[in-house]
Amino acid sequence: MNNGEHVLSGGCRCGAIRYEATSAPVSVSHCHCDSCRRSTGAPAVTFVMLRRADFRFLAAEPKFHESSPGVHRGFCPECGTPLSWHGDAQRHADVIELYVGTFDEPATLVPEFHIYYGERVAWYDTADHLPRYGELTSNAEPVSSAPKFLDGDAHQ
Ligand SMILES: [Zn+2]
Ligand SMILES: [Zn+2]
Repeated sequence: MNNGEHVLSGGCRCGAIRYEATSAPVSVSHCHCDSCRRSTGAPAVTFVMLRRADFRFLAAEPKFHESSPGVHRGFCPECGTPLSWHGDAQRHADVIELYVGTFDEPATLVPEFHIYYGERVAWYDTADHLPRYGELTSNAEPVSSAPKFLDGDAHQ
């Protein structure tokens, strides 16, 4: 998809922060962790992971808050919109994650799995059969592939 024409764009509510990416996402996932919840005010977030090499903020940079040691969450200093997540650790060095709601065309960015499902707010889930990992995808089998309210339509 990295043909020079594939451009994703987005920005904050007030328009002070704008960004673009020139390659397709590495992944799109729902995160139910407590840190995302507090950082956004939402019960869960949807992250779009992008290659840092193909991503840039345009006119202005966000302000960054260190939400955990070595983890930085970007937000607009003017309107407060939460925008991004990136980490200093080697395993995060090549990527940055943007919240799906900040993209100009979020419907084109389709989630593939859930992470930190074990930390979700008990009353919150989404109506899909995507794999649900207790923490990260790399350290466990999915804890579930669908919420209980969808059990009835899994005729297998
Ligand atoms: Zn703004
Ligand atoms: Zn999270």
